[in-house]
Amino acid sequence: MKGVAILGATGSIGASALAVLAQHPDRFRAVALTAHRSADALRGLVARHRPSLAVLSDAEVPADAGGPTRWASGREALLEAATHPDADIVVNALVGAAGLEPTLAALEAGKRVALANKESLVCGGPLVLQAAERGGGELIPVDSEHSAIFQCLAGSRPGEVRRLILTASGGPFRCWAPELISSATAADALRHPTWDMGSKITIDSATLANKALEVIEAHFLFGVPYARIEAVVHPQSIIHSMVETVDGSVLAQMGFPTMELPVLYALAYPERLPYDSRRFDPVAAGTLTFEPVRDDCFPAFALGVRAGLHGGTTPAVFNAANEVAVAEFLAGRIPFGGIADSIADALERWPGGPVRTLDDVREADAWARRAAHTYLTRLAPC
Ligand code: NDP
Ligand code: MG
Repeated sequence: MKGVAILGATGSIGASALAVLAQHPDRFRAVALTAHRSADALRGLVARHRPSLAVLSDAEVPADAGGPTRWASGREALLEAATHPDADIVVNALVGAAGLEPTLAALEAGKRVALANKESLVCGGPLVLQAAERGGGELIPVDSEHSAIFQCLAGSRPGEVRRLILTASGGPFRCWAPELISSATAADALRHPTWDMGSKITIDSATLANKALEVIEAHFLFGVPYARIEAVVHPQSIIHSMVETVDGSVLAQMGFPTMELPVLYALAYPERLPYDSRRFDPVAAGTLTFEPVRDDCFPAFALGVRAGLHGGTTPAVFNAANEVAVAEFLAGRIPFGGIADSIADALERWPGGPVRTLDDVREADAWARRAAHTYLTRLAPC
């Protein structure tokens, strides 16, 4: 029986992780569940899954929280969940740069981290790799593209990979004219064609910032240079990504879109466990098509890849400026086009610097948040 801590249990990936646990109660047990502020939702999950620890990272413990589960609140309590002695596996399903510190803490404590929080690697890639090495922790991807690549790489040796090809659905604006995209509303952007996800990543999918975050994530996870990581639009989201080996062979992992299978694989690896989900039907999947990324319509993609190439703290600046702009866009205060504009402004003005410590990342992150707020308050309200 493996103990599992789920950071961000009330979110979309958190729900997928709990669905996986529910199908394998003899293999996995929830030992810690966290939410940020959703006390009622967390209370419901606690009643159902009976973890040892329940954490609200940014809200008080409800007065009536009782029973066998210990409740705690605040940042330290979140780190306690990430390093819980009974947790063999930590599912990091937090959203944003806030996920980095728990990832580092879990890896330092020797845990397996089933990583959905791609922002951990984007903001602090070198620190994450060092923490895993120091603490003996293990990083297994949950992001569907990276899970696909991880599965395709099984059994391959170092030096055998020529290219990683990440697939992208293209988001809801794939076929929209550029002038319409720049003034799209939050309701338009939240209508993702193939995936049902949390609001932040759904907007990232609409701007294609998500694909840039994923290119950086792949660079750190698989140690492949940026020049050998590509993205291609695949609107059906059936092929989750591909690996080209040095002999020219191309391996793809496919299936109907669901995050439960990547979570299951990250929990069970290197085993494969049976799972009750919609069986793949190639005929129902239909025609699979591929298109280039439209750089002209989705500037956030190229900005993010360039930030990755620049390295050091620049990806953290890309991420933080994006987080601020996405929140402003979701609040209806800026137009869709303002997201990429504010990222571009922050990146243009950031002098760069190395990632030696968590403080380097924190400083870059804080600077970018201030820069993005300043830039966006100057934008006319949409
Ligand atoms: P959601 O917004 O659905 O859930 C986020 C979870 O994290 C919630 O439990 C939320 O608590 C908690 N949370 C939010 N902000 C903070 C914070 N600052 N500190 C601590 N906890 C916080 O997100 P998703 O599940 O969609 O995404 C989670 C991560 O997984 C992201 O990094 C995303 O990019 C990645 N991912 C998601 C996919 C998906 O299908 N959803 C696919 C691939 C990757 P509360 O409910 O209280 O707000
Ligand atoms: Mg993904």
